[in-house]
Amino acid sequence: MASDPLQTEDFRRCAEFHGHICPGLSIGYMAARAGLERLHSLRASDEELVAEVETDACGVDAVQVLTGCTFGKGNLVYRDCGKQAFTLFSRSTGQGVRASLRAGAFAPESRQQELFDRMHDNTATAEEVREFWDLQRDKSREVLEKPLEDLFSLEWVTRSMPEKAEIEGSEICDKCGEPTMASRMRHIGEAKYCLDCADRKT
Ligand SMILES: [Zn+2]
Ligand SMILES: [Zn+2]
Repeated sequence: MASDPLQTEDFRRCAEFHGHICPGLSIGYMAARAGLERLHSLRASDEELVAEVETDACGVDAVQVLTGCTFGKGNLVYRDCGKQAFTLFSRSTGQGVRASLRAGAFAPESRQQELFDRMHDNTATAEEVREFWDLQRDKSREVLEKPLEDLFSLEWVTRSMPEKAEIEGSEICDKCGEPTMASRMRHIGEAKYCLDCADRKT
């Protein structure tokens, strides 16, 4: 079925990276597409991007796959706001598109929640687990078929961009001996400690 949105190459890459298909992944996928489409309508598609995500849930994996923004490259910024909101910026201009899930745009069905709770408590039968993942696929497909404007409120935002990742020297912690980024060391008296050792009040 070529028209199944779960089967597009891009979405399959996201699902492979994430490890399963779920509505959260679909939401991140659509948010990344919304940002990419709008930014690319303005300028070159090979420009460096910065993604700011306000959740650490499933959708972030789709954002990483589609935008190439990752923690390791320093162009994925996590703000712990607990919102299904994703902003994609152009690094050079600081101009970005924020997509935040509209209230009521997506809600799991009560049956899904019930099955999820049973799986969480390890009381679900194999059949119920299968039913849960079938529902997840249906819901994911539903998200992918929605118009972007129905799913998200979309707004242009401008922000100063985080510094590019830099290479910083390490120092040795006086307690555990582990090399630690210099800026993360704590100086206590004459000694230098990593964060964990400093917390243990050496
Ligand atoms: Zn997921
Ligand atoms: Zn240490």
